[in-house]
Amino acid sequence: MRSRLVAGNWKMHGSLAANRRLLEALKAGLHASAGVQYTVCVPYPYLAQVEAALAGASIAWGAQNLSEHAQGAYTGEVSGAMLRDFGCRHVLVGHSERRALYGETDKRVAGKFQAAQGAGLIPILCVGETLQERDSGVTEIVVGRQLAAVLDSSGVGALVNAVIAYEPVWAIGTGRTATPQQAQAVHAFIRGVVGRQDAKLAAGLSIVYGGSVKGANAKELFTMSDIDGGLIGGAALVAEEFIAICAAAGQV
Ligand code: PEP
Repeated sequence: MRSRLVAGNWKMHGSLAANRRLLEALKAGLHASAGVQYTVCVPYPYLAQVEAALAGASIAWGAQNLSEHAQGAYTGEVSGAMLRDFGCRHVLVGHSERRALYGETDKRVAGKFQAAQGAGLIPILCVGETLQERDSGVTEIVVGRQLAAVLDSSGVGALVNAVIAYEPVWAIGTGRTATPQQAQAVHAFIRGVVGRQDAKLAAGLSIVYGGSVKGANAKELFTMSDIDGGLIGGAALVAEEFIAICAAAGQV
């Protein structure tokens, strides 16, 4: 059985005080559940706080970005090894906000994916199309291209230690969730692309959905056969919502 993952993306939100309240509530509400993992991807400055708060809890943590370089004169950047120093297990790679707002190309995202694995992190590779691309009928071309950049540079075997997040850009932070059928179709496409190179690996690959997932719609998404959990933005900042989404992942 594929393991399921619910990952929170706090984006650029939080403060020491707000994080403390959220982490306490998550620790009280989330308990180890067979086959489901939870993680929170937090802003860099709070990694030490999260590491201390979640030590011994059944919630992992990670970051939202990393440098494609291991070290050097890259002012303002953070390496994978630095994230490991703070106990990170996961790191988001190629989130659509990084691609759209910070010009991250497929090639750079592929470099970051490689750097993450080189540092012993599990990359959560984000792929997804814009509304214009969906309306033009090129969703599979776009997602296939984003995936190919990583497959070409790291090889299909690298996906053994990775998670793919399908996040249609038009569903992120908009309140407009993809229907379970729309999401399932793209998840099946992704699994098919990987499966053409390695069927066994594809069958075990965790592919999570992101885009306005909430407690109220999580279960219908997670019951789809190729959806293995969620990448959660806004709802990850509300303890009851995140806990409800995690519970939904445990019920399917
Ligand atoms: C995200 O940030 O990856 C995301 C899916 O955000 P939201 O859940 O707010 O749409």
